[in-house]
Amino acid sequence: MQNQICVIIGASHGGVNLAFSLRREGWEGRILLIDADPSLPYHRPPLSKTFLTSGEEVEKFSLKPEEAYQKEKIDLLLGQVVLKIDKQLKQITLDNSEIISYDKLILATGARALIPSIKGINTAGIVFPLRTAKDVINIRSAINRAKNKKVVVIGGGYIGLEIAASLRKLEAEVTLLERDNRILSRVTSPELSTFFDGLHKSKGVHIHTSQEVVEIQQAQDENVIICKDGNRYFADVIIIGVGIVLNTELAEAAGLCINNGIVVNEYCQTSDEHIWAIGDCTNHFSPHYQRNIRLESVQNAVDQAKVTAKAINGKKEVYDAIPWFWSDQYDIKLQMVGLSDGYSEVLLRNESINKFSLWYFKGNELLAVHAVNNAKAYVLGTKAIKEHLSINKEKLVNSEFEIKEAITSAGTQSMVS
Ligand code: NAP
Repeated sequence: MQNQICVIIGASHGGVNLAFSLRREGWEGRILLIDADPSLPYHRPPLSKTFLTSGEEVEKFSLKPEEAYQKEKIDLLLGQVVLKIDKQLKQITLDNSEIISYDKLILATGARALIPSIKGINTAGIVFPLRTAKDVINIRSAINRAKNKKVVVIGGGYIGLEIAASLRKLEAEVTLLERDNRILSRVTSPELSTFFDGLHKSKGVHIHTSQEVVEIQQAQDENVIICKDGNRYFADVIIIGVGIVLNTELAEAAGLCINNGIVVNEYCQTSDEHIWAIGDCTNHFSPHYQRNIRLESVQNAVDQAKVTAKAINGKKEVYDAIPWFWSDQYDIKLQMVGLSDGYSEVLLRNESINKFSLWYFKGNELLAVHAVNNAKAYVLGTKAIKEHLSINKEKLVNSEFEIKEAITSAGTQSMVS
């Protein structure tokens, strides 16, 4: 294996973790990690939070120091775009025309910000997505330049809400426009949407739902954001957080199987035996859920990286992680585990002000837990989902009982210790 080369396209959480895991698992050949972003690979979650508010340089958020790559003999090729994969010849072509051969290829290409087809959306210096460090730097300088620090955020998903919370910290006047009739509608229940709606409004964010932006007009004084129903909003700076587009074009052009992401098997291998894919851009079969899923999360990228590194080194292990996510907004830490899709009942367990958890069931099966400032609910919920433990619902919603008293091992009714 010493003369072999493993090429990784995409140097974010998935790609970087994979490179280091490959070494740990015994890969002795060359590792080449390529990314179009010229910065040393950095953590993504702080982009909409501390990186936006702090004024720090991107280097402060590096995933690993430069020396770590040198120590593990991981070659970085940054600021370089891969144009083509030739799976017959096992070669990739870079935008500088260089051709690189590979023995193993891993696609960790992730996703990019979706830029909706709204008239005026490409107005430079006014409208920004937030997906990369460069986006954040552009937003920070636009806000610093802005006369009134008035910002309109388009989209009420996690990215939009985290941006809104960060901008309030910077004392900007923030209006958030959401197309659906509630924020977070794609990712959580109406109960949690209501909580976050109230939280943001209490912090001074103007949230308007059922507002689909159709046009942006640049103006000398304040730019105008026009919605389908004719409502108009005004801002110095406009930030878009309306979802993502998967970076699957390279894989598709190479003839790999694509179906709402690059289709991979339980070892993260694509339809070509020499090519693997990990992270947001993939669609995998989940043994736990008994269906194919596509996840947009750091956990998925990191865990798939570990499984792939093992598989490439001949230590096959099935990928069967329970998904988890988190979001920090103001002094609220939201932790989510499992997938709530298809739930038939949601139970609220209230502990104290701003400390509660929502438990999603399909019949008696626990699907997911969303915990607000409640690490214990998150940890015990994770265990219950993973191990298919049964839950005493009456005890669960009664905070006089500890959560562990409500969780019983399937069949035996014994307590979880
Ligand atoms: P998202 O969850 O898809 O939310 C986008 C929201 O924008 C949706 O509610 C959508 O409404 C709305 N929208 C779409 N077009 C609109 C328009 N023209 N006018 C007004 N609203 C519109 O995506 P996101 O929040 O942008 O997040 C992007 C990615 O970053 C995701 O992968 C997310 O998981 C990730 N991320 C995660 C975290 C975290 O886990 N803490 C934090 C930040 C980012 P409709 O439903 O009606 O289309």
